[in-house]
Amino acid sequence: MPTDPFFKFFLFLIIYILILLVFKFKGTGEKKVTKDCLNACPCEKNCPLNRIERKMSDKFFNHLTFRIFNFKRYKCSSCEWQGLRWEKDFKAKS
Ligand SMILES: [Zn+2]
Repeated sequence: MPTDPFFKFFLFLIIYILILLVFKFKGTGEKKVTKDCLNACPCEKNCPLNRIERKMSDKFFNHLTFRIFNFKRYKCSSCEWQGLRWEKDFKAKS
């Protein structure tokens, strides 16, 4: 095994990006679409989510994931759930 710290760093970076791409491919954290709602809450009521302002940590998290997901913060209209969701960019597909 090479002991070069730069090699280790790049190896770590490549593995990190691969993990992110797996999450993207599997749709982890993607908007939940039901027959009534394009962006439903993970709670059992499937209430629509409302877009709220992103926190500083969310912006940092977006940079940390190389803006692969472009997370946006949402809040449920009935329960207390709030969190980050991303949507598939259909324009990116040619
Ligand atoms: Zn909810």
